[in-house]
Amino acid sequence: MTDRPALIVKDIHKTFGEHEVLKGISVEANRGDVISLIGSSGSGKSTFLRCINLLETPTSGDICVHGEQIAFKTNKSGERVPANARQVEQMRAQLSMVFQGFNLWSHMTVLENIIEAPMHVLGLSKAEATERAHAHLNRVGLYERKDYYPAHMSGGQQQRAAIARALAMNPEVMLFDEPTSALDPELVGEVLKVMRGLAEEGRTMIVVTHEMAFARDVSNHVVYLHQGEIEEQGDPKQVFSNPESERMKQFLSPKY
Ligand code: ADP
Ligand code: MG
Repeated sequence: MTDRPALIVKDIHKTFGEHEVLKGISVEANRGDVISLIGSSGSGKSTFLRCINLLETPTSGDICVHGEQIAFKTNKSGERVPANARQVEQMRAQLSMVFQGFNLWSHMTVLENIIEAPMHVLGLSKAEATERAHAHLNRVGLYERKDYYPAHMSGGQQQRAAIARALAMNPEVMLFDEPTSALDPELVGEVLKVMRGLAEEGRTMIVVTHEMAFARDVSNHVVYLHQGEIEEQGDPKQVFSNPESERMKQFLSPKY
């Protein structure tokens, strides 16, 4: 069972109105893979992540999480929608996402943020969820801040709390959408350090990032998106030192 890929995403298309934002994207992640997704703004990176955990329904294409394929159906208006709400909830628990803007619940302390989903989605008791949360808080170096409200913490601390919240679901795959883009430069390092630790522990991760050093040094596969298509992909050492595509060369070249 552990031999199955953690995630198979096959030929995903996504259209908003007339605009085809994703034009057939396939990605496969085995256990422990760290895949970096790079590309200019508007290339479809966030839409792709949102399709993977069904915040958006792909117009076509398949998603398979650890061997289980997401079922879709066509509703009365002729739109493709997930067939089974329970399956979506279970899948989302397997694919926890860390957003650019942290997205912690502002009326809850850090600890409350972390235990909410394990209690209500996984059905853990408060005591059990709290015990596990303490371990995750230690993991991201925030145990002392557990009773703080998000507004009283720095952006870097909030993002580490969001990572602890994602970890608390013990997800099959962690999805990160530009987790350091909203941070002041001096706070980027503490978040990247936690993410590097997760990668070293063997967590399966898909990371949308502009941190090219992270993509090159931490991930084992890099995917470069351009206008909703995979323009180039491969081993980061290879792709970064010797990109084949002219566009990717341009993308990587210093802008100023
Ligand atoms: P990236 O994350 O690479 O910057 P996005 O996935 O956010 O790119 O956006 C890709 C394209 O899809 C953009 O042109 C954006 O305007 C469009 N788009 C994203 N979400 C929606 C939506 N909900 N409705 C309409 N267009 C959207
Ligand atoms: Mg984006």
